[in-house]
Amino acid sequence: MNYKQLKSLLADPRKIVITTHTHPDGDAMGSSLALALYLQKKGHRVQVITPTGYPDFLHWLPGNNEVLIYNMNDGTKRKGERMVGQADIVFALDYNDPKRIDDLGKFMQDSKATKVLVDHHPDPVNFAELALSDTRASSTCELIHRLITSLGDKALVNQDIASCLYTGIMTDTGSFRFASTSPETHRVVASLIETGMQHTLIHERIFDSYSESRARLLGYSLKDKLVVFPEFHAAYISLSKAELDQFGYQNGDTEGLVNYAYAISGIRLGALFMEKGDLVKISFRSKGSFDVNELAREHFSGGGHKNAAGGSSTLTLQETVKKFEALLPSYAEGLKAF
Ligand code: 5GP
Ligand code: MN
Repeated sequence: MNYKQLKSLLADPRKIVITTHTHPDGDAMGSSLALALYLQKKGHRVQVITPTGYPDFLHWLPGNNEVLIYNMNDGTKRKGERMVGQADIVFALDYNDPKRIDDLGKFMQDSKATKVLVDHHPDPVNFAELALSDTRASSTCELIHRLITSLGDKALVNQDIASCLYTGIMTDTGSFRFASTSPETHRVVASLIETGMQHTLIHERIFDSYSESRARLLGYSLKDKLVVFPEFHAAYISLSKAELDQFGYQNGDTEGLVNYAYAISGIRLGALFMEKGDLVKISFRSKGSFDVNELAREHFSGGGHKNAAGGSSTLTLQETVKKFEALLPSYAEGLKAF
């Protein structure tokens, strides 16, 4: 990242749009809202636009009420497209391919705005004039903290900004346990906690706020829907639309469910298949050297990180699961090795 160039770009008040990927997670929303709050403090006009909605357990985040959800209706779509078209700067956070923001990607690429990428996913598509792309970073939130610090504004990180950043770092590191958690991650978190931000409350709001039906969906998934292949060190859960409906599925209710598949001792690959509209949405997680980013890219039109990736399929749920099962023998060697 050329901070000098970014600093001069931000020297005058600008119209800024912040975008993040579809079905935003804690890191996507945390990084977007933290950056928005920071840039507003610096005197800019800022709009956060998400391509789709996101789970209720993220709605408490400071600045949430001003987010524009692009795909809500024709009005929000037109507004989002107009704002991206008229912006001086468009930030792209927690994604690295314009396809990840659906239809809005085209408008972003056509916009005369300077595009600034801040992201930690591998193999970025080259569409931004300025980029802070670091695959070793735990999260985009950690990179936003680095960006604010590098611009000389660490003192502007107040409790609200810290709460947003803590949310993304905590969720993307699986509460500080994934390999991406570095000494720097902990140093950043230490400085966030020093603002007086309520980290226990944030953990509770994100992880201990299940509805009863979500808890029962978890129970059903583990008791009746978990399929284990000990010979391939793999396990998966699949959920049809009817099953999700039966448990009154709400956005975010299956968040973290895939972790139970790979939490079993000896299992190195976990998958979750969910019927969503015309698509099957897939989550992959792995332990050790097995690369689910590659698996998702090659076979399920997706991507992500080495140990956490996702994708989708236009086949039926059954066919998608069959395709996954049929692939397992070809990955047997990779799944054996740690
Ligand atoms: P999750 O399983 O939590 O939805 O996603 C895990 C990781 O995979 C995230 O880093 C996310 O950005 C990435 N990911 C999920 N779905 C997709 C997808 O459809 N395409 C791509 N390129 N990445 C995805
Ligand atoms: Mn992330």
